[in-house]
Amino acid sequence: MQVYELNSLFDRLNRLYFDSQLKLIVRWSHRSPPKASRSIVLGTYNDKTKCITMSRRLNSTLVPLYVVECVLFHEMLHAVFPREEHRMHTEKFNKFERMHPDFERARKWEKESIKLLFEKPQKALPFVS
Ligand SMILES: [Zn+2]
Repeated sequence: MQVYELNSLFDRLNRLYFDSQLKLIVRWSHRSPPKASRSIVLGTYNDKTKCITMSRRLNSTLVPLYVVECVLFHEMLHAVFPREEHRMHTEKFNKFERMHPDFERARKWEKESIKLLFEKPQKALPFVS
């Protein structure tokens, strides 16, 4: 079932924050990350393919729109601010990310409620934000 339409969310953010300059592909992941995965990955950006992959677990009525939007926004920023040496999230990146009005409450939701998305929450699954 489609809860969120990624392309329209992308277009909206692109217009609001990037002057519609970003040309990227956005899609849901096909399957969940492997069970052995040590962290929960909500989104990834591949600079070679210019493709953002969003965890399909976010395509759920359990997840508020602002959370999906902030994860997508975060991945879009990776297309704008490339990594510097070993830093994925540079100061410029972090500063820009906080411009999103829902940044704080999205982070809060992720910390408190992300476990809702996992039917069988593994014990002590570390969460990397
Ligand atoms: Zn990131």
